[in-house]
This record gives sequence, C-alpha cells and structure tokens, in this order.
Amino acid sequence: MARIEISKVCKDYHGGVRAVNGVDISIADGEFIVLVGPSGCGKSTLLRMVAGLEEISDGTVSIGDRVVNSIDPADRDIAMVFQNYALYPHMTVYDNLAYGLKNRKTPKAEIDARVAEAARTLQLEPYLDRRPRALSGGQRQRVAMGRAIVRKPAAFLFDEPLSNLDAKLRVSMRGEIKRLQRRLGTTSLYVTHDQLEAMTLADRLVVLSHGEIEQIGTPLEVYHRP
Ligand code: ADP
Ligand code: ADP
Repeated sequence: MARIEISKVCKDYHGGVRAVNGVDISIADGEFIVLVGPSGCGKSTLLRMVAGLEEISDGTVSIGDRVVNSIDPADRDIAMVFQNYALYPHMTVYDNLAYGLKNRKTPKAEIDARVAEAARTLQLEPYLDRRPRALSGGQRQRVAMGRAIVRKPAAFLFDEPLSNLDAKLRVSMRGEIKRLQRRLGTTSLYVTHDQLEAMTLADRLVVLSHGEIEQIGTPLEVYHRP
C-alpha cells in the first residue's frame, strides 16, 4: 500500500489541447478514489499519466516516497486493469496470471502460490487451463483483475474496467471489486462514467470538468442534492 500524490499535474497534447490543467489529489494509504466527469474531461489522461503510459507535461506524481515522473513504467509498483481486459489470447488463464511474475523472475513456487490464491479469491480455479476465448466476459474481467492482484502492487489503477459488461454482470462485478478492496485494502484510482459504480466503490470522488477538479468529496457530499 502507498500514498499517491498528484501535484499540479498538467497535460498538453500536440496541437495545443490542454487535457489536464493543474490537478492536485492526495490519495491516502489504502484509499479508493473514483474519478468521474463527462467524456473528454481528462479522466483517462490523468490515470494514464499516473500509470506512466502518458508523459506528464507539468507537475509531479509520486507513489509512496518515489516521484514517478522519471521511473520507467515497468518499474512502477502499480497494476492497471483495462476495459478491454488486455489478456494474451494464446495463453491459458494460469499463464495469463503468471506472466507478469515470470517476467519479474519470481521463483516458481511463489508464482504458483500467488496464482492459486488469486484464482481462489476470484473463483477462477476451474478455468486455469482454458484460454480467454473459452471464457465469458465476466470471467475474462476476473482474469484481468487476477493479473493485477498477483503482483501485490502498491496501487491499482482501473480504467473503466466494467464498461464492456452487460448491466447484470456490472452489478455483480461491482460487488466483487468492493469485496476485493475490503480484503486487500490497496490504494486505488478508478475511472468510470457509471454513477452507481462511483457511489458504491469510492471513499472519495473526484469530479473533473475540462481538465480541472470541479468537486472532491465523499459520495454523500458529491451526490447530495439539497
Ligand atoms: P476522458 O477520459 O474523461 O473521456 P480523455 O482523457 O480521454 O478524457 O481526454 C481529455 C481531452 O484530451 C479530450 O479533449 C481529448 O480529445 C483529448 N485527448 C485525449 N487523448 C488525446 C491524444 N492522444 N491526442 C490529442 N488529444 C487527446
Ligand atoms: P509455459 O509457461 O512454458 O508455456 P506451461 O504453460 O506448460 O509452460 O506451464 C509451465 C508451468 O506452469 C508448469 O510446469 C506448471 O507447473 C505450471 N502450470 C501451468 N498450468 C497450470 C495450472 N492450471 N495449475 C497449476 N500450475 C500450472
């Protein structure tokens, strides 16, 4: 677990688009922050800067006591869960879960133990030998989450992880993420445009508008209509 400090962060894309303009967010150890706001307000850009997938134009991001601006994305102690799952189609579920650990030269016994634990947590044990195409959408998304949790990262970043699922599955996966969060307590930054997801999961919500923070607070504070 780690704090995340986002400090005066800006993003200018080529062509003069300022997608993020001076955002400050201080995320406590174990806190679950949800970023919301209309399409194009800069949610995904902000998340991708924290992940190291997008260069930071100005300002700093730190995770724990390390400023990440200059750390290679592969060396950042974070795991990201994407909307499109990003699974390796030719690998089994076991190998998808183990892949990141193998790359980090984790000992085999440790890999097996962590994969087994993630599979148990996410109810993937019956599917370890299947390939992604033989899984349902919900199962694939659980594999994507499993790949993040086996690494035991300091923080999770979620980019609209449930938006490809049908409404019923979204509700059940929402509950599953909530349970995972209670169990692991990992610092998280979660992007969604789904208000129910935001209200269910967030310790605090950050509402972005035109690349700036419009509101920040608990779900009750943000969605309370007097
Ligand atoms: P959101 O995730 O809230 O929908 P984005 O972060 O995707 O918003 O986009 C924020 C702004 O930056 C938008 O105006 C978008 O058009 C622009 N933008 C996003 N990606 C790029 C890019 N690669 N090049 C230029 N402009 C971009
Ligand atoms: P590679 O990763 O080289 O393609 P395999 O996929 O056959 O090779 O698996 C490598 C190792 O991963 C095996 O020796 C085995 O211990 C472990 N493994 C693979 N699938 C499973 C599984 N379903 N459950 C437990 N361990 C597995």
